[in-house]
Amino acid sequence: MSKYWNKKINDAEPYVAGEQPKEGRKIIKLNTNENPYAPSPKVAEVMASFDIAELRLYPNTDGGKLVQTIADREGVSPSQVFCGNGSDEVLALCFQTFFEKDGNTDLPVLTPDFSYSFYPVYESFYDIKSKKIPLREDFRLEKTDYEGVPNCGIAIANPNAPTSRAISLDDISYICEKNPDSVVIIDEAYAYFAEPYVTAVTLLPKYPNLCVVRTTSKSYSLAGLRIGYAIASEELIEGLKRARDSFNSYPTDRLAQIVAAAAISDEEYHRECRAKIIATRKYTEDALKALGFTMPESSANFVFARPPKGLDAGLLYKNLREKGILVRYFDKDVLRDYLRITIGTDEEMEALVAACTEEIKNVQNS
Ligand SMILES: *Cc1c(COP(=O)(O)O)cnc(C)c1O
Repeated sequence: MSKYWNKKINDAEPYVAGEQPKEGRKIIKLNTNENPYAPSPKVAEVMASFDIAELRLYPNTDGGKLVQTIADREGVSPSQVFCGNGSDEVLALCFQTFFEKDGNTDLPVLTPDFSYSFYPVYESFYDIKSKKIPLREDFRLEKTDYEGVPNCGIAIANPNAPTSRAISLDDISYICEKNPDSVVIIDEAYAYFAEPYVTAVTLLPKYPNLCVVRTTSKSYSLAGLRIGYAIASEELIEGLKRARDSFNSYPTDRLAQIVAAAAISDEEYHRECRAKIIATRKYTEDALKALGFTMPESSANFVFARPPKGLDAGLLYKNLREKGILVRYFDKDVLRDYLRITIGTDEEMEALVAACTEEIKNVQNS
């Protein structure tokens, strides 16, 4: 609290990001869903040939070549693409642009309970009412729960975080159809890890109220670069540009634009990287299940695993941390029975499994 802050900032409940350990200590970092592999080698090429003198000039507001690259890859028009400084920024602009329409403060945004923990932060920061729609058994989202509930908008992560479960394109169509006056945000941060890969971008020709949000942070190994984007109808993208130009006209810088474009163009590398993570996920799921863990089937680059009876998730989190393995623990509601574990390299996951095996032995012997 500070007397120099306004009420909004004094009242804010900011997002708490996963811990970023200091350099030096050797840590196995499985807590923020980063990619364990380096970005495409094309990134090094474009960085090496980048003309530093270009940094004199402001970047293209819209993202320049990056927008064209995304449009080509997704088979949409460049006027349907909006780029921002990470998808967190794109999502923040979406909440400000599409929700609490016409000053009607009574209508809530619908989000699944549980979902990405940034959504409630935006809701409270932008004074938007929120309504959490409970998930069903084993964190399953039921599409009919989003029917006939008055709302000013809907935000769903697909695959969902931290539960790792995905919904189908039919489910998304249904939700868009039943809520024609609301924007439906589908946050596809983890879409490229689903098997098979499906994207709501293919539904855009049918639904002008659908807004798909993506990031280069996870599947493209560029969390440090900060590029996210929205793909939607021209009408929605125009709205986002108005919001951006009322705040910061240059959210993406010149270097980030060309680096992200290089990574997105390298489809082959992207495919290989994803295949490796999906294979390692399978190994991790099998190994943890063999130890007695349970978890929903993951479509993401993490698993949401519940330790076997007798092994407390919070305690396991602490003990893993002491062993230099960081995973994510959410100390609330039913989530506190689970750990969200990012899929790293094979070696990292073998180390995780070995550490869990040891913890289980300790419990059995005590
Ligand atoms: C990681 C994540 C994001 C944020 O991505 P950035 O582009 O790095 O800001 C958005 N949504 C979900 C569901 C995420 O897990």
